[in-house]
Amino acid sequence: MRNDELNRYRGKPICDMHIHPHVQMPVDETVEVIRSVMEYFHDERIVLESLPSYDVINNFTTLYCKSKLDGVYAGLGLLHRFDGSDTAESYLAQAESLFRMGCDGFKMLEGKPDYRKRLEKPLDDRVFDRFYGFAEEKGLPVVMHVGDPREFWDADRIPRWALERGWLYDDSFVPFRDGHREVEGVLRKFPKLKLVLAHFFFVSDDLSYAEWIMNEWDGVCFDLTPGSEMYFNFSERIDDWCGFFRRYADRILFGSDIYNWRRGDSSMEERYAHAVNLTRSFLEKKGPFLNRWQNVEMKNAFGFCGEVLDKICHDNFIRVFGEERRAADDEYIAFCAAGFGRDRDLSEEQTANLKKIADWFGR
Ligand SMILES: [Zn+2]
Repeated sequence: MRNDELNRYRGKPICDMHIHPHVQMPVDETVEVIRSVMEYFHDERIVLESLPSYDVINNFTTLYCKSKLDGVYAGLGLLHRFDGSDTAESYLAQAESLFRMGCDGFKMLEGKPDYRKRLEKPLDDRVFDRFYGFAEEKGLPVVMHVGDPREFWDADRIPRWALERGWLYDDSFVPFRDGHREVEGVLRKFPKLKLVLAHFFFVSDDLSYAEWIMNEWDGVCFDLTPGSEMYFNFSERIDDWCGFFRRYADRILFGSDIYNWRRGDSSMEERYAHAVNLTRSFLEKKGPFLNRWQNVEMKNAFGFCGEVLDKICHDNFIRVFGEERRAADDEYIAFCAAGFGRDRDLSEEQTANLKKIADWFGR
């Protein structure tokens, strides 16, 4: 049984704009994981958001999955050398190259506090201007992760799992509010940029700011990918947030943050469904429901139906990422993949994957 049948969600196919293929494994295994996830969750279309900061060949892995599977869009990411060779020209050249390879949008993890610290420049630094300008001009969406839940800056409030992953942010990290200012800086320079702020921009505890940024810039969307904290925050002010969701139903997108994890002996439901179930239950169920991920009873839920659900779970994806996927220049991808390892230290597995990808696109 599929996830929607098992949990009695609406049976219409959905679109998930936030899945990652960065867990390193043979690339055909990644394709099979993604294929099984799309079937199980009744995904008509997904965006694979590449994370080259975790796996340097991830843009190629993403393009390979797109080439192998219907309905897969490619959200590709910039590579940084963290030295003087990272220039406005080099970022523009990367964007143009990814465009030619058939990217359907860009993914930026650069605003996540640990990454942002390593980058040593704000997201609205002039060095990124030509990149944003390119995305704006081509109408390509940028899916951006900025910040983290506010409690990660507070030793008394941070959840244990986040603490264990090293995500307690002290003074050496950019403060929570500065992430907002940097995004506002980007939008002031590129007001027509299609910017999808991942994880609801971590503002589910600040309705007036969420409202302000939506009003200020038409091109801004939020995604609903947990950050499970957002659902507890929505639940606290259910009527206010319900109104917000109805007002901005055109600009909120469903996402799951599923990775290409190996399933092992677990069922599809056990391995992949926690975030989908929380999000879909909150959107679709009426009253209190059991959040099986955190094993707590959620007091409230939105209980949307009809048009609002259609938009959030399907139509907005099409409007933002396109009805058709962009065409890829296969020969060019083969050429880039074949040359990519030349000045990089790659693992055996990465090298084997790149070869497989280069051969596939050069066939
Ligand atoms: Zn993510």
